[in-house]
Amino acid sequence: MTDTLIPELDDAQSEVRDLDLRTQLFIGGGFREAASGRRYVTENPATGQPIAEVAEGAPADVDAAVAVARAAADSGVWSRMDPGDRKRILVRWADRIEANARELGLIETIDAGKPIADTVGGDMPETAACIRWHAEATDKLYGQVAPSPEGTVATITREPVGVVGAVIPWNYPAQMAAWKLGPALATGNTMVIKPASTTSLSLLRIAELGAEAGIPAGVLNVVTGPGDSVGEAIGRHPGIDCVAFTGSTEVGRRFLHYAADTNLKRVLLELGGKSPQIVFADAADLASVAENVAMAIFWNMGENCSAGSRLVVHRSRKADLLEAVLAELARWPVGDPLDPATKIGALISRGHMERVLGYVQVGRDEGARVVTGGQRVLEETGGWFVPPTIFDGVRNDMRIAQEEIFGPVLSVIEFDTEAEAVTIANDTPYGLAASLYTEDLNVAHRVARDLRAGVVGVNAYSEGDMTTPFGGYKQSGFGGHDKSVHAHDQYTETKTTWIQLRPRE
Ligand code: NDP
Repeated sequence: MTDTLIPELDDAQSEVRDLDLRTQLFIGGGFREAASGRRYVTENPATGQPIAEVAEGAPADVDAAVAVARAAADSGVWSRMDPGDRKRILVRWADRIEANARELGLIETIDAGKPIADTVGGDMPETAACIRWHAEATDKLYGQVAPSPEGTVATITREPVGVVGAVIPWNYPAQMAAWKLGPALATGNTMVIKPASTTSLSLLRIAELGAEAGIPAGVLNVVTGPGDSVGEAIGRHPGIDCVAFTGSTEVGRRFLHYAADTNLKRVLLELGGKSPQIVFADAADLASVAENVAMAIFWNMGENCSAGSRLVVHRSRKADLLEAVLAELARWPVGDPLDPATKIGALISRGHMERVLGYVQVGRDEGARVVTGGQRVLEETGGWFVPPTIFDGVRNDMRIAQEEIFGPVLSVIEFDTEAEAVTIANDTPYGLAASLYTEDLNVAHRVARDLRAGVVGVNAYSEGDMTTPFGGYKQSGFGGHDKSVHAHDQYTETKTTWIQLRPRE
């Protein structure tokens, strides 16, 4: 169904011209300018041209948003609403997001450089599906009665944490927001959320759709603006009870400091990765493995925390696999993100493109060999395009194998034994995702168990779906998991109520 929603290039270009963008802060159920009146320019990464001016929030705006979010939390307008009614509102919101997937997808594509086939066909349906999945859980979350001694009743119940802050990255602006909004709102919290300043437009429209669906004023607030002002203010705010962050490990670390220095708010971190894809000597169907390998690293231009950026391959299969991956890349055209045929759009910004190309130079200097890609393309568009890039001859101690590049750059590393493959895979500060390819059930189970990663795909590149938790080990994550019922734990307090019964007279 979504395929029919993806516009042809001409239609997309004219629909973009007609977009009516929301560019103000969304606080207390309505749009308003930043208190300072300041605005900043957001650019289209595929052209380098300005799209719109967005309200530049500051700590004073966070104060205003927290004040209404706190009032909404204290009033119980959301947390004490009949869960069935809360469910109906959130389901209605998901329906509206889905119904507006084409408009939202166009917004996401011009703001983030992501291919239109992915935003309309993937990000927006997934955003709606995430909200709907958590919405439907709203009236199915039970407490427990403990096996306490005779003469007592002990209940264990879940209560919302209160006001949840969220700070969102630019790689999946709508979807990453939904991963926080869905479970936090379903469990009765109110929210103050900051999108990345490069990609604020889709979330502002999504918040408006939420108000139309019936989310009460003050429950969901969006403050746009820079991380070192709005993001830090959310991290430090004494009126926020919990903060959920997705982004770099460096900024994640700061959120721990913000909380430690202020009100010890709960901190949930979903951070970077350097995920291995291990291909054993017996892996079957190299064409299909190559398809998965390409998807794992080149999907979303490699701007993906779970990107499989290290291909750890048995020495005997490396040449054949590389050939298969190169053949697969014929189906990965780089181009205008508004063109439905494009698979690789633009990187988020000039600065990020330069960072990615800087790593390509680091790889060359370290002695690795570029097999394909490695330079800027489509410069005449004014956009920030880097094609799929593969380095052969990589050692796992090289910087390109250790540091998160967050671009379409794959490092190929050889191994000889299963133990060596596991050692290489785990030799990283990160532990978000991993995948492995083998026909041997023993190897599959052994290695899946040995990998220090939160999500392991066997003969697949998959993060699972809404029913499974997503989060990392080591420096990839802290404090909880997104998605599934496990996400509800992040946004709820556990209350014990111990009741002493009087004996019968
Ligand atoms: P950041 O971690 O800086 O940005 C993520 C979010 O944090 C944005 O909303 C940003 O705001 C905000 N932020 C930035 N600085 C602060 C701060 N001091 N206090 C509070 N919030 C802050 O990522 P970048 O955009 O700089 O990307 C750098 C690298 O981070 C990437 O190359 C990649 O390696 C990694 N990254 C990982 C992501 C993931 O999904 N795990 C997602 C994005 C990046 P704003 O952008 O408006 O300033």
